[in-house]
Amino acid sequence: MTNARPLRLILMSDTHGREGAHPVPDGDILLHAGDLTDVGRAREIAAVNAGLGALPHRHKLVIAGNHDFLFENDPPAARALMTGVTYLEDTAADAAGLKVWGSPWQPWFFDWAFNLKRGAALAEKWARVPDDVDVLVTHGPPYGIGDRCHDGRRVGCRALLDRVRALKPRLHVFGHIHEDRGWWQIGETLFVNAAQNYDTHPAMVVEWSDTGPRIVEGEAGGPIDPS
Ligand SMILES: [Zn+2]
Repeated sequence: MTNARPLRLILMSDTHGREGAHPVPDGDILLHAGDLTDVGRAREIAAVNAGLGALPHRHKLVIAGNHDFLFENDPPAARALMTGVTYLEDTAADAAGLKVWGSPWQPWFFDWAFNLKRGAALAEKWARVPDDVDVLVTHGPPYGIGDRCHDGRRVGCRALLDRVRALKPRLHVFGHIHEDRGWWQIGETLFVNAAQNYDTHPAMVVEWSDTGPRIVEGEAGGPIDPS
């Protein structure tokens, strides 16, 4: 892609209903990697839609997370509330020439929304990501990157890591593990855990020029597990 000026991408995640707590930076594309709400009720989803929908960004793409129950339990009702943003669920959208794919699934954890067993069930979801994806947005992290819990356990999805390594998208945005927020440039892919942990952290900002994406606002991430 060729642009006279870099595109600005605003990366959000895990705001749990407090998306307005920090001023959202200006930009061309806003991406939210899920956990829009606390418990995924219609009233909460409507409020998030109103909050994000009022922002001036040209493209606003969101996915659900494990807290956003209505999207799994009553998809038509939840989707009908998303009038101001574009909701992705194992689907793609074009945003200013970038192909963005969004998917809410994560490894099973006490039967929250969009939980699947590790292995084949998740691999089947990741197999749907198209080869020419530029930006992958998932709620959960891949194994080994931005997936470290307080107690040191890594809970990311190995099948997702395998797929990302094969596809090499330029940008992979996720959240879910609030305590391992940060960014990592690994090979051709910029990985970002954009978790805002309710309202304790602002959105991260990426500039995307002819040479690809780079972080302009956000913290470098902690240790990774390259195995
Ligand atoms: Zn969360």
